[in-house]
Amino acid sequence: MRVGRGVKRLITPTVQSKNLKIKGNISIMGFKEEEDFKPKGPNPMPKVTDLRYWDFKLLNRYHPFYMPVCDMCCLCTFGKCDLGKGKKGACGIDMKLQQARLVLLACCIGTACHAAHSRHLIEAVIEKLGRDHPIHLGNSIEIEAPIVRTVMGIKVKTLGDLEKVLEYCEEQLTHLLSATHTGQEGSVLDFESKALHAGMLDDLVREVGDIAQIVGYDMPKGEVDTPVVELGINCIDRNKPVILCIGHNVVPSTYIIDYMEEKGLEEEIEVCGICCTALDATRYSKDAKIVGPLSRQLMFIRSGVADVIVVDEQCIRVDILEEAKKTGSVVIATNDKMCLGLEDLSHLSEDEIINRILREGAGLILDEDKVGKVAVELARIVFKSRRAMKERCLPGLEEIRALANRCTECGWCNRVCPNSFPVMESIVEAKEGKFEKLADLYRRCYSCGRCESECERKLPLVSMITKVGELYHTLEFNVRAGRGPIQDLEIRKVGAPIVLGDIPGVVAFAGCTNYPNEIVIRAGAFKEALKDAELVNDHVTLQVDTWNL
Ligand code: SF4
Ligand code: SF4
Ligand code: SF4
Repeated sequence: MRVGRGVKRLITPTVQSKNLKIKGNISIMGFKEEEDFKPKGPNPMPKVTDLRYWDFKLLNRYHPFYMPVCDMCCLCTFGKCDLGKGKKGACGIDMKLQQARLVLLACCIGTACHAAHSRHLIEAVIEKLGRDHPIHLGNSIEIEAPIVRTVMGIKVKTLGDLEKVLEYCEEQLTHLLSATHTGQEGSVLDFESKALHAGMLDDLVREVGDIAQIVGYDMPKGEVDTPVVELGINCIDRNKPVILCIGHNVVPSTYIIDYMEEKGLEEEIEVCGICCTALDATRYSKDAKIVGPLSRQLMFIRSGVADVIVVDEQCIRVDILEEAKKTGSVVIATNDKMCLGLEDLSHLSEDEIINRILREGAGLILDEDKVGKVAVELARIVFKSRRAMKERCLPGLEEIRALANRCTECGWCNRVCPNSFPVMESIVEAKEGKFEKLADLYRRCYSCGRCESECERKLPLVSMITKVGELYHTLEFNVRAGRGPIQDLEIRKVGAPIVLGDIPGVVAFAGCTNYPNEIVIRAGAFKEALKDAELVNDHVTLQVDTWNL
């Protein structure tokens, strides 16, 4: 059996000579006894190059394809270097290698975000429950962490064990990131092999983070009938104070929900969110609501629905302070990854923080204990002063018509739209008081704001699209709160029929809301394929909707 160096380093010679039939008092990253160590694969805890031979097999069969996005490199002080037309940079790198390097860099950034998020979750949960708190996902889940078991060869039993998995990932990630430095890796295939390693680490850290929050915040553990929760901007009651949480880290939302429950304010205040923070908040409380995806956050912010915006981490608009100011919403930053230049108010009392944020419009609180009370009490105060202006954050139809009449029809909005939407045509129609095209744009636009930035007449195009969309459409849906892991029984139920060919299997229909046109095309093709396979007929239908949600 081939053993990863990470393991060799940690086990005794006696154990190695027994070819990993482990007996006696051995310790691998603190995991003791035979039952803790499940070396299912040949490379538990692989280091950067342990799976390289296999990556190369795959990469030589399926060659990477590069579409150069930028031919200028500015990553070190030798530069900037022009890599266009077959030229090399001062370090000897060419365009293809640079693309592979950027792929690895992007993978490291993504994995680091998930690892740091999981690290924060683990620390918060350990502080609450202790390092020795057991991981128990209910009687229906036997394999508590399939990815950890496969990659690490260990069984995690306590929150402290999860921390050790993170330690492995963080160490590996440092090595990967260092490979992107000037004058390091010099092979496209090696960059790609490292990117695959980063992808594996990403799977690990996300599993660790989710187990931590399931255990720490008592989220559903493989339950089938989780509560039905509300989704869509129209589910939010604008006649109540509204707290909008944006980001990926549920911890601040849990303190807000706890404080509301403690004070019996569930009926009085709306707590809603955008993206993963929202999804996880509904796993914590069925009263939380999901506004929509991060890709449409500018629309949601501009709509003015939020009295208080609480940001945690990842994929939040970095101009959130500027945008919130336009609608009179106040902002609370809660995470060390996103401080926004704000003064850290954590050392003040909650009442002092509330007064400071009311004066300054925003504040940084790195003590989550205080976020609950501050967000809720601020929402009650701010709501009173914003109530009248909430409906006026966006221009009315007459104003939209007047704005449209300032359009010179230069066409730049169409040119810069990543999806080539007919922005100009929609505005030209609005000049005549016809808004159907703008309403249609609302369905697919993901509010990147590029058209607006480019507009030579400085028209607030995203606000115009949002207002018309809100008047023409009702975004109100229901979804089930996230249910957590799949039960062993469920796996067995589908496992055998899939292997025996009784059922066709599971189809993952993946897409990205940043490319709504592509999603619609794929959904249509998918429907046709199902029809051809006679899986869609008069009795079984497939609904394909084109909402970019
Ligand atoms: S990393 Fe290489 S290509 Fe990039 S700026 Fe430095 S020397 Fe030039
Ligand atoms: S905001 Fe919407 S319409 Fe404007 S450029 Fe972005 S996707 Fe296109
Ligand atoms: S960029 Fe502005 S002025 Fe030019 S066509 Fe678009 S909306 Fe009109």
